[in-house]
Amino acid sequence: MKSIGADLFRGHGRLDGPRRITVTGDDGERLTLTARHAVAIATGSRPLLPDLPGIGEVRPWTNRHGTDSSTVPGRLAIVGGGGVAIEMATLWQGLGSQVTLLARRRLVSRMEPFAGELVAHSLTQAGVDVRIGTQVAAVRRPDPAGPVTLTLDDGSDLRADEVMFATGRAPGTEDIGLDTVGLFPGTWLEVDTTCLVRGVDGAWLYAVGDVNHRALLTHQGKYQARTADDAIGARAAGPPLDDGPWGDHATTADQHAVPQVFFTDPEAAAVGLTAEQAARSGHRVKVVDLDFTAAQGANLHADDYRGHARMVVDLDREVLLVWFPLILDLSIPYAGAARLPEDVYLGRWLAITAVLFAASALALALKLRRVHRAARATKTTRSGS
Ligand SMILES: Cc1cc2nc3c(=O)[nH]c(=O)nc-3n(C[C@H](O)[C@H](O)[C@H](O)COP(=O)(O)OP(=O)(O)OC[C@H]3O[C@@H](n4cnc5c(N)ncnc54)[C@H](O)[C@@H]3O)c2cc1C
Repeated sequence: MKSIGADLFRGHGRLDGPRRITVTGDDGERLTLTARHAVAIATGSRPLLPDLPGIGEVRPWTNRHGTDSSTVPGRLAIVGGGGVAIEMATLWQGLGSQVTLLARRRLVSRMEPFAGELVAHSLTQAGVDVRIGTQVAAVRRPDPAGPVTLTLDDGSDLRADEVMFATGRAPGTEDIGLDTVGLFPGTWLEVDTTCLVRGVDGAWLYAVGDVNHRALLTHQGKYQARTADDAIGARAAGPPLDDGPWGDHATTADQHAVPQVFFTDPEAAAVGLTAEQAARSGHRVKVVDLDFTAAQGANLHADDYRGHARMVVDLDREVLLVWFPLILDLSIPYAGAARLPEDVYLGRWLAITAVLFAASALALALKLRRVHRAARATKTTRSGS
């Protein structure tokens, strides 16, 4: 902080009216700061526990316990089907727990359906009891030193030594003085593309990172912070904002091209829109699928190599959208080989290279077609004139 000329004040920060912040230190001392131009909120998110009967008595685990527990429960029930749930299932099954994963709907439902299917398959292969389409109706731990019993929606009971909920996130805005600027405590902060909070007069309050609920990932938070920083500077200096799509002061990628990886085994990775999202947004798309089982490099390195990649191509613009960060709608959910030995990562990269090679070939073909069409159009115009 010092090296960039910033002052650091430690304590609990709260808004105290427009452009004003109070910081309460551990010793209870309160300091008031007033900003000349802007205040940025970056208070993140916390795990959200469902309002289930008995939840208060079972000492539920969240991702926090999932990463700092020093004991391995014999049986661990994990509730959820998103990224945190599948990563925790991979981790704790690997550490020796017998994991039961309870998901309401298909796993990683924001990715292409095959990604969730491959992850479910590999978790099952690793010994996880994957139950999809299952809801928890109640939990209880009558003996504080004993196991947890989960009552499921079909009326059956499941016993576990610990239960972890990976059922979503809540905004870290309960105690930050939102009410002093006309906003509601405990709500996500809705922002425009420059990360300026909506509903506050005077263009001075920004929110970056999880707290604005745009894309709950570290790299997206950093991207938002950089963009908001530039926007604050531009607003202060007075030049017009460049906040159109992909402008310097716009967090356009949040809505079109969020890269993400789930560290399961195999990993599942994606960037951009799924085929369904692209079609729903009105794009005319071509879906290109590649089954890694057929990738020669991969099979050279591992038996039973499994994996799948998909590209979604925008046919109207005739571009392969991954190659140019300015162009959107590319989706590559990828699930590589299960249980690969360390030296087989080369095989995985060979497989990815195969996909990229196929993508290049397709891009070239589309480009040639466009050039050919343009040449034909020029010829027609000339012969017509
Ligand atoms: C299990 C799990 C795995 C994840 N894995 C990945 C991953 O692999 N890759 C990835 O990109 N993302 C991952 N994420 C998401 C990532 O952790 C978040 O998107 C990221 O941490 C958000 O950053 P942030 O700065 O908005 O909030 P946070 O990292 O939550 O930081 C908020 C900070 O604000 C402080 N704070 C809160 N209130 C106040 C206050 N009133 N006054 C002063 N300080 C305050 C908090 O103490 C905290 O230090 C994962 C999340 C989870 C739960």
